[in-house]
Amino acid sequence: MMNDLKNIQVDSSTQIYGVFGDPIRQSKSPIIQNRAFQVMGINAVYGAFHVKPEGLKDAMNGIRALGFGGINVTAPHKVRVMEYLDDIDEAVRYIGAVNTVVHKDGMLIGHNTDGIGYVRSLKEDLKYDLQGKTIVVVGAGGAARGVVYAMAKEQPKHIIVMNRTEEKAKALADKLSPLCSIEGIGLAGIEHIKQQNVDVVVNTTSVGMAPRSDEMAIDPSWFHEGLIVSDLIYNPRMTKLLEVAEKRGAKIHGGLGMFVYQGAYAFEYWTGKSAPVNDMRSVVEAVL
Ligand code: NAP
Repeated sequence: MMNDLKNIQVDSSTQIYGVFGDPIRQSKSPIIQNRAFQVMGINAVYGAFHVKPEGLKDAMNGIRALGFGGINVTAPHKVRVMEYLDDIDEAVRYIGAVNTVVHKDGMLIGHNTDGIGYVRSLKEDLKYDLQGKTIVVVGAGGAARGVVYAMAKEQPKHIIVMNRTEEKAKALADKLSPLCSIEGIGLAGIEHIKQQNVDVVVNTTSVGMAPRSDEMAIDPSWFHEGLIVSDLIYNPRMTKLLEVAEKRGAKIHGGLGMFVYQGAYAFEYWTGKSAPVNDMRSVVEAVL
C-alpha cells in the first residue's frame, strides 16, 4: 500500500534514508519512517532498496557517495554489513548484527535497535519491568540475539534460552554470561523449564508466522495466570501461541510494538529528535 506522502515536498535539500534487504517489498519500514518525517516536519524521505548479497558492498559505498543520512538493514544483510562500517556500538559487539547505520561526518556507524526496541515495547506497552524476573526465550536466531542482549541489561534473575539447535542456545548464553545469569538448552528441556518459577516467555522463532500461523514453537500446556507471553511475530498480530496463552490466563504481548520502537530508535539515532511513536504505530496498524 502506498504511504500518504502528499505533505512531503521532495526537493534538492531532501535527506535520503532507506532500508536494504532481499527481499524487501514486504517491508513496512518506509511507512513508519516517512510518517515520522512528515509528522516531525523533517525534509527527508525513506525508500526500500532491493539489495542482493552480491550488491551489498556497492550499496554501502553508495551511502557515502550519495550522502544518505543512514539506512536500516534487514535480512540477509544484518551480519555481513559489518564489513563495510567504520565503527559499531557496544550492543553490536555482543549481538554481532546491525539493523541501523548512521552516516555522520563521512563515517558509517552500526547500531542494533531490535533488542532495545523490544524492551521499550514491554516497558511502555505492557508497563512491565524485567528486573528480578525469570525469562524463557524460545529461539536463538538473529532477533533473539538482540532481544536477549537487551533483556540481559535489565538485571533479570535468570534467562533460559531454548532452541531447536541446542548449540546455538548454548553459544548465545555463553556470549551473554558476563551480563547476567543465563543458560542455553534444547527444546527437549521443557521439563526443566516447568520446574522454574518462570515470569516471562518470549517466542523469537519464526514458528507461527503467516502463512503457517497454526504452529507453536513451545508446548503451552503449562502456561498459567500471571505469566507474560510475548511473541516477536506481528503477522499475524494474534499468533496461535498468544491465543492459547490468553485462554490460559496469561498476559499477552505481540511483536508490533517491537517493530515500531526499533524504528523509533533508528529515527532518533538519525535525527536526534524524539520519534512520534503513536503516529508510527497507527500508520502501520492501518496496513496490517
Ligand atoms: P532467524 O535468524 O532465521 O532465526 C529463526 C529462529 O527460529 C531460530 O532460532 C530457529 O531455530 C527457529 N526455528 C525456525 N523454524 C523452526 C521450527 N520449525 N521449529 C523450531 N524452531 C524453529 O530469524 P530471525 O531474524 O531471528 O527472526 C525470527 C522471528 O522474529 C521472525 O518471525 C521475525 O518476523 C521476527 N522478528 C520480529 C521483529 C519485530 O520487529 N517484531 C524483528 C525481527 C524479527 P534453529 O536455530 O534451530 O534453526
